[in-house]
Amino acid sequence: MEEMDYENRLVSMEFLPEDDGDNPLRPRTLDEYIGQQKVKDNLKVYIDAAKMRKEALDHVLLYGPPGLGKTTLAAIIANEMGVNFRITSGPALERPGDLAALLTNMDEGDVLFIDEIHRLPRTVEEILYPAMEDFAIDIINGKGQGATSIHLPLQRFTLIGATTRAGQLSAPLRDRFGVVLRLELYTPEELGAIVSRSARILGAAITMDGALEIASRSRGTPRIANRLLKRVRDFALVLNHGEIDEETARVALARMEVDELGLDLVDRRMLRAMIEHYHGGPVGLETVAAVVGEEAVTIEDVYEPYLMQIGFLSRTPRGRVVLPAAYDHLGIPYGESPAGGQQSLF
Ligand code: ADP
Repeated sequence: MEEMDYENRLVSMEFLPEDDGDNPLRPRTLDEYIGQQKVKDNLKVYIDAAKMRKEALDHVLLYGPPGLGKTTLAAIIANEMGVNFRITSGPALERPGDLAALLTNMDEGDVLFIDEIHRLPRTVEEILYPAMEDFAIDIINGKGQGATSIHLPLQRFTLIGATTRAGQLSAPLRDRFGVVLRLELYTPEELGAIVSRSARILGAAITMDGALEIASRSRGTPRIANRLLKRVRDFALVLNHGEIDEETARVALARMEVDELGLDLVDRRMLRAMIEHYHGGPVGLETVAAVVGEEAVTIEDVYEPYLMQIGFLSRTPRGRVVLPAAYDHLGIPYGESPAGGQQSLF
């Protein structure tokens, strides 16, 4: 069995150290932000209206798989509104006091971005409700009979929450967002435009076909597209005087074992195992997770959205089912399990 480095998959949608935080590739304005047209069109109206009324923008919830540009979009919203941008995350806010310290330091209209908002501790979430609704918080000092409560008014601020799983937010939290926007996986053409833009910023020469080749292997995800571009750029420098054309991109990506559809060894192993050991499914999520050695949430948030988008996998009430297109891609005849088992369909 191949040795896998699950933490550092090249096609991981999650943030890797090499994606470094404040990178020059991040678009700063709505116009520079490629794709997600519907989301952008609506946001533009809300932003313009809030500015005309000279009010803070309503609270915004952004959801969708990792690496699609939620953090980037939140920073753009603050930039377009002309306000300060503060960034934190659900797990980083351990105690109510952590959130209170942030909120009491915000100016009128400022944006507070909470990434992974579905992972906020309950006690913190509870002080967020009145903060979002009434722009005030009540902090309890001490315990039992001697406990005192302090009422702190806040400036009107905008909360932007990001989550990979809107379904996991509690109803009271979800209901307090006036604007809820879902980010979709990008088309290869949109990703091609992102790759071309990034190459320009990095000063790398790239052909249209080269950009599209990288784009079509990036699983609909800008973060992956930018990451693959940086690696392909190295190959191009050594193999092709620095120019990234279709051939160089193909060779480089093959060397990195990212196939034409952006699947890597982990995806192929997961699909193969489902076919070979479970006749292609239905296989329960927990079983898939055990097979791949990943958490169930990671399978759901990171692997499955793309595999479902390209028609390789479907979620059924009884479990995950591998679809014919995946058999085709892996070169396994459909309806005939290599393990010799009976093919069970639905
Ligand atoms: P998320 O917060 O959803 O995990 P990020 O906002 O961190 O994703 O985006 C990952 C990277 O992808 C960013 O560094 C940015 O360079 C790039 N990116 C994301 N969305 C876009 C876009 N629409 N246009 C151009 N680049 C983008």
